[in-house]
Amino acid sequence: MDAMDDTRPHWIGKGRLAIPPAESDSQRYGTVVLLDEHGTPARLREFTPIGTAVFTATITNPVAREIGVEAGPRLLGLGALFFDRTTWNGHPARAAGVRPRDGRLTGWLDPRTLAGLDDVPVLLEAHESWPGCRCRPSYPTPRRKKRGPRKPRGSSR
Ligand SMILES: [Zn+2]
Repeated sequence: MDAMDDTRPHWIGKGRLAIPPAESDSQRYGTVVLLDEHGTPARLREFTPIGTAVFTATITNPVAREIGVEAGPRLLGLGALFFDRTTWNGHPARAAGVRPRDGRLTGWLDPRTLAGLDDVPVLLEAHESWPGCRCRPSYPTPRRKKRGPRKPRGSSR
C-alpha cells in the first residue's frame, strides 16, 4: 500500500470490485470484496465510522478513460459499515459492506450499481456524509457537472 492511502481517513481499499457469490445468490448484496491484479483478495482497512456510513466506490481518471465511463464516486449504499470473513477462490478474504437501517433483507447495496462495477478497479471508501465529506474526497460529487457544448452519449446518471 502506498503511504498516501493512510492519509485518507475513510479509505477501505483499492482493487477490482467483486461480488461474493453468496451475496448474489441470497439477493442480499450486502458486501463486496476487492481483488488485486492476480485475482487475490486485497487487504481492507477496517474501521468503525460514527453513525451511518456512506459506502462508495470511486473510479479514477485513468480507469474511467480506459473503460469509457465518467470518473468519480458511485454510491453503493448507506448503513452500518461492517466487515465479513469470506473466501474467494479458496483464499480467505475480507468483505466490506453496509447494513441498512430499515431492516430490509435484500439489496443492501444497490445491485444495479454493483453490476456496473463488477471487475472494475475502484477505490472503496466509507464516508460520513454524502455528497461531500470532511475528508474532502479527491473527486467531485457526480451531481456537479460542467456545462459543455456537447456531451458524449451514455454519460447520463
Ligand atoms: Zn469521507
